[in-house]
Amino acid sequence: MVISGKDLSARLKEDMRQEVSTFPEKYGRVPHLVVILVGDDPASASYVKGKAKASEFVGIRNTTVLKPDTISEEELLELIQKLNEDESVDGILVQLPLPGHISEAKVIESIDKSKDVDGFHPLNVAALWQKQSCTLPCTPKGIIKMLKFAGVEIKGKRAVVIGRSNIVGLPVAKLLLDENATVTIAHSRTRNLPEVTREADILVVAIGRPRFVTAEMVSDGTVVIDVGVNRDPETGKLCGDVDFAAVEPKASVITPVPGGVGPMTICCLMENTIECFLRKQ
Ligand code: NAP
Repeated sequence: MVISGKDLSARLKEDMRQEVSTFPEKYGRVPHLVVILVGDDPASASYVKGKAKASEFVGIRNTTVLKPDTISEEELLELIQKLNEDESVDGILVQLPLPGHISEAKVIESIDKSKDVDGFHPLNVAALWQKQSCTLPCTPKGIIKMLKFAGVEIKGKRAVVIGRSNIVGLPVAKLLLDENATVTIAHSRTRNLPEVTREADILVVAIGRPRFVTAEMVSDGTVVIDVGVNRDPETGKLCGDVDFAAVEPKASVITPVPGGVGPMTICCLMENTIECFLRKQ
């Protein structure tokens, strides 16, 4: 079974669109998401465009603030401070990566926790690890939704996550643990990685290397979630971290790239923006 994140996210966005359409009457306005893009990196610009398009569909007000990569850290922090204080703003997202002279950690920390729609603020991260209510990071949240949608039972399963980044690997491992999987986190220093991944009932791959996971690394019947977004070095087309053509016949469930985890990430951003808005009401 190939899980289409594109189709699932379209269904969920339609539900959100209907929900948001009731907000003007109930609350006098719709949620407002502000996205800040620093510089002109084409990949970042295309992600920001995708977020604006999804907002428009769902009925969320979207403001995209474009800043040149010469903006100082201080100016960016001042802008975020203003948005924190602006009552009409429910969600603030700073598109990463930022230019080298700006501290991403400082920027993330400067966003009001209650407007942190990415779920990257240290207080949201702490809340996640202490099982308190919080804004969940979009990609891991989308992955759990996909697994549930596909009817995958997570409880008691052996889950292997390759990658330990703050935005994907670590939080998805925690969410799988919260769903009662037995979780192994693998990374670049893991020895005998294929031996580890062959043990997985659920394999989540978030490393950023085109078609890294081969058929030999996967056992029959494994559920495979491919988070990677890479350019195929040969064709220049988008591809995942998993060799889809080789792994798909062995997997019981698998996500494609593009059209898998990516659209679910944007869908969960919409959901997080609505949640931040509703918490304020
Ligand atoms: P990252 O911060 O670069 O982290 C990569 C992780 O992979 C690290 O933990 C690294 O291990 C591990 N790794 C690298 N090479 C490895 C190897 N040969 N064997 C085992 N582990 C290895 O990346 P990220 O931000 O988590 O993103 C990962 C991928 O997901 C990228 O392709 C990114 O574009 C994509 N992504 C997609 C979405 C989406 O919505 N679809 C969202 C976010 C990210 P060490 O810690 O040991 O260095």
